[in-house]
Amino acid sequence: MSNNVKIKSRKADIDDTKYSMDTHIIYGKDVSDKWDYSHHVTAPISSSTTFRLDSVERGAQGFTQFAHTEEFGEHAPIFIYDRLGEPNKDMLEENLAYVEKGEMAVSFSSGMAAISGVLGILTVAGDEIISHNTLYGCTISLLKNWYPRYNIKWNPIDLTIPENIFNALTEKTRVVYFETPSNPNLDIIDIAAVRKIVDQINKSRGDKNKVYIVIDNTFSTPYCQRPIEFGADFVVHSLTKGIGGFGTDMGGAVIGKKKFRDILHLIRKDFGGVLSAKNAWSILTYGLPSLALRQKQQIKTAMQIAEFLNSNSKVEFVNYPGLPNFRGYETARKQMVDFSGNFAPGALIYFVIKGNTPAESKDNGRKFMDYVADNAYTMTLAVSLGHTRTLVEHPASMTHSVVPPEELANRGIDAGGIRIAIGLENPDDLLLDLDEALKSI
Ligand SMILES: *Cc1c(COP(=O)(O)O)cnc(C)c1O
Repeated sequence: MSNNVKIKSRKADIDDTKYSMDTHIIYGKDVSDKWDYSHHVTAPISSSTTFRLDSVERGAQGFTQFAHTEEFGEHAPIFIYDRLGEPNKDMLEENLAYVEKGEMAVSFSSGMAAISGVLGILTVAGDEIISHNTLYGCTISLLKNWYPRYNIKWNPIDLTIPENIFNALTEKTRVVYFETPSNPNLDIIDIAAVRKIVDQINKSRGDKNKVYIVIDNTFSTPYCQRPIEFGADFVVHSLTKGIGGFGTDMGGAVIGKKKFRDILHLIRKDFGGVLSAKNAWSILTYGLPSLALRQKQQIKTAMQIAEFLNSNSKVEFVNYPGLPNFRGYETARKQMVDFSGNFAPGALIYFVIKGNTPAESKDNGRKFMDYVADNAYTMTLAVSLGHTRTLVEHPASMTHSVVPPEELANRGIDAGGIRIAIGLENPDDLLLDLDEALKSI
């Protein structure tokens, strides 16, 4: 036997333009200086909270270099302790940054930890945050219930008219924050138009009082929309949803410019919202590589379901970015595109069941969902989204129960509104269950 077989490790100098992103999303850069695993086809699970440091000198070097990439440049990391950094998270971060077209990503323990992380580095006491008036329920709760304690003011406005920013803006505004499509009613906000306005505002502002655009891209996933390409400074994700894809692990991420990586590492280290290495591994191994395939199927199904609901006599209206009669359609066509440039209107649908009064509409909505909960094989009454199973929920009494009933309309939420997050079922089976549920009202 020859023992001089050369060990080959593959290089990361892959031509980005040669292969499609559908393929890149499976391989990432294929090699990582975060961990040498040249002979594993799947990255091994890292499961060590602490790391051997060889010498005091190397330990000291690790602490000096941590969160100082701006000073020390890119280097193979000296791992110290899981909360500071660890191979599985670091590899997931490389691939997330790549697919979202950002310079870097920092992972967090959940979507909410990522949102508090990025807002935490961009604001100090006295600052103000402008947001769209419809947001994920816990984000509303963060801005409404917790930030006043730190004297950070929240100003929710209608960002579907981006010019409204001018009226809400003050010297203290630091962040314009939104989701597009928004949760739960799928308002579409024109990212490029917001960028234009914020650029105009920043012209007369120094680095210290600049306004940043932060977009929660959870509903779209990077398969359907890459907000950084349209001018977002930061993208945040709940990895728990479409990117994780199977409903098994919680996680979050912030993606943006390299110069913010160090401070994001510092806030994560001290506030402690660290993604578990095992969750990072699942998302790296199962979630991201299957994202394109899952999204393609879900979009196809969502389009069919949206059209069915749109022509059903018991339905008041349907919000789905893929329907030409939807008010956000034109903007969605511009910014919701898949890796190959095709229109990719996502996997979420919002609709309202008819009633002669809002109370009756709400009651019909509740009946519909109770029928689903009892009888539907292919739909599950549950919060969350981006799952293999189709999930149905009632925002007014569930995810958005933080919003008082009298404020719901202001937030663009209907008392009888229903949110469907499409899964991987055969669309014909979903149509069957939907039809039966609607007939039951
Ligand atoms: C679920 C969700 C979050 C929060 O993510 P967690 O992982 O549950 O903390 C934030 N934004 C949106 C749009 C979400 O759907």
